[in-house]
Amino acid sequence: MTTKTRDDFTESTRRALAIRAAHHCSNPRCLKLTAGPHSDSAKGLQTGHAAHICAASPGGPRYDKDQTPAQRRAAANGIWMCRECGVIVDTDPAAYTVLQLRQMKADHEAMIGEIRTEGWSSSIELLRSGRADPAFAQRIIALFEDRSVFWAAFDAEFPDRVRRSLDGLRRDLTALRGKRVAGSPLDQVLVALGRTIRHFFGAVTRFDMDTLRCDGNDPEWLAFESALRTLRKAIGFQLATLGSSYGIPLQGEFAEYQAALAKGEKSPAA
Ligand SMILES: [Zn+2]
Repeated sequence: MTTKTRDDFTESTRRALAIRAAHHCSNPRCLKLTAGPHSDSAKGLQTGHAAHICAASPGGPRYDKDQTPAQRRAAANGIWMCRECGVIVDTDPAAYTVLQLRQMKADHEAMIGEIRTEGWSSSIELLRSGRADPAFAQRIIALFEDRSVFWAAFDAEFPDRVRRSLDGLRRDLTALRGKRVAGSPLDQVLVALGRTIRHFFGAVTRFDMDTLRCDGNDPEWLAFESALRTLRKAIGFQLATLGSSYGIPLQGEFAEYQAALAKGEKSPAA
């Protein structure tokens, strides 16, 4: 039997990892603060953990036999986490791959680098909103993808249907807003989307949506159709921007806006 060797981090590497993460857990769904005051005024309390991305010894989670001991011990192979998240990523390595952990670390350090230069209050908001919060961004996008008013030609022929659908959407957006800190980046996205829908209602408020029907000779119908086209385009570009900044590919019609955005086309002011 061979002696088991562990390529543990040195104290200075642990310290560097903690500072690079600003002592916050790097898991975007956690972000727990891992340092604070001890009851002994001469001491600080440290509850974080420098986790190995690829295990320190054979048989450990995500062990990479091709790494040299120096690579295994390097800060590049570590990620700062709270104790609980450290246990989770090491006991369920299939759910936390090397690539995912590297991405998590890179995202967290990039966010910390950015907020370090912001004022304290906006830093807290950025942290709480978790710029790395793709699940919430996906929920926003799903609200729109579910609604045919943004893509089906048929629905546009029934203005009352359009109005009911948009009313429901506004309620859903308001409910989602309650789940984010006011002023945080995703809250601002929700506010902007709500404003675009309000703008549409403002443009069509003088029409009787219950009786208005498709008629190419009716100036009211033409104005309604034009407002709906503007709405679809403005929402399309906003969702495309949101999807692209979180690496979420959009479906259906919205995918075309994402492609247009990638080519540098601009959203109409709405
Ligand atoms: Zn954590």
